[in-house]
Amino acid sequence: MPVLDRFLRYVQIDTRADEASATCPSTPGQLTLQRLLAAELEDIGLTDVTLDEHGYLMATIPATVARLTPTIGFIAHVDTSPEMPGDHVKPIVHEAWDGRDIVLPDDPTAVLRASEHPDLAAQVGHDIVTASGTTLLGADDKAGVAAIVAAAEHLIAHPEIPHGPIRIGFTPDEEIGRGANRFDVARFGAVCAYTLDGGNCGELEFESFSADVLRVTFVGFNTHPGYAKGRMVNAIKAAARFVDRLPQDRLSPETTADYDGYVHPYQMDASVDRTTVRVLLRDFVTSGLREKQRLVERIAADAAAATGTRVEFQVDEQYRNMREILDGHPDVVERARAAIRRAGLTPIEKPIRGGTDGSRLSFMGLPTPNLFAGEHNFHSRLEWTSRQDLERAVAVIVELARVWTEPMSDIR
Ligand SMILES: [Zn+2]
Repeated sequence: MPVLDRFLRYVQIDTRADEASATCPSTPGQLTLQRLLAAELEDIGLTDVTLDEHGYLMATIPATVARLTPTIGFIAHVDTSPEMPGDHVKPIVHEAWDGRDIVLPDDPTAVLRASEHPDLAAQVGHDIVTASGTTLLGADDKAGVAAIVAAAEHLIAHPEIPHGPIRIGFTPDEEIGRGANRFDVARFGAVCAYTLDGGNCGELEFESFSADVLRVTFVGFNTHPGYAKGRMVNAIKAAARFVDRLPQDRLSPETTADYDGYVHPYQMDASVDRTTVRVLLRDFVTSGLREKQRLVERIAADAAAATGTRVEFQVDEQYRNMREILDGHPDVVERARAAIRRAGLTPIEKPIRGGTDGSRLSFMGLPTPNLFAGEHNFHSRLEWTSRQDLERAVAVIVELARVWTEPMSDIR
């Protein structure tokens, strides 16, 4: 079955993740899609197809070569972002797109213009796929899911293509940061894996932020405001002073790009008695993360001293730069570069200004860089992909399977 047909079916199943849910997966729709995928993988001829009670689907494409070849994995997530409606997605294929504005029918204010989207402008003549204007499309990450299933079908239909054992993993709840939580690395049993969860054709990502969240709590003293003279200490004013003194023209999300990290106050829980500001700390090197933490703590301590409040800090680790692990496994990235080239594309390598499930999986013992799957404008009504993007993602997976049977000295 063509990869586009698979994709169009998967996006019509509502798999929106829900941060408020305590269950795993967070929503039942994800299980609905996983059950469908399990049945499809069995039909195609994969072995060891298992769907566990937490909604993790794993399966194996058996090897076609007898010699010992390492087991590798391909991973995608079945959930979609909670930030946008994801039910009743109506995918539209704009065949052989002529470059004109694409007006989405269910909301004519939702318009994709080549002038505003250079990635789209590069795809004139391709079959562009969008939603209908009121929902996301779900290419993030059903493009990755569809590409992996289609590649599995291709490999099983072509036993003449040499490859070792290949494991497939479809995970829930990536969009709410829980995708790696219950991923059983030992049961997956691969030496490395690739997430198919990226944008433009040729993209290969193996560096991510290192990330902490710092909770800064100002403790004041509350009393009836009518009789507060000389007694009240307002924690809200301390927090306001603190936020105002954070760097404005540097070290902020609004003023940084590429390899520059930032500190970002993003949530405040305020009362006179006690005000907590949550601050995201981001840097590509973990020592830079510590520096940013010290800077924020110094500014907070000054604000506390100036306002007569007390300040408390709590730092929690979120994830670490996958490069710290992948530098120890250079062949994992080198083989991906080779596969992208053999598929006729140019590798595009850039750091991820965020984290992926691969960041966490890499530190859990499964080195996992990220590959493109043709996701554009994700988490938006203007999300789109193309049939050609999906087909190229399939081609890269197939080439990568083959590349892993070759000695490193032959990889170019
Ligand atoms: Zn994704």
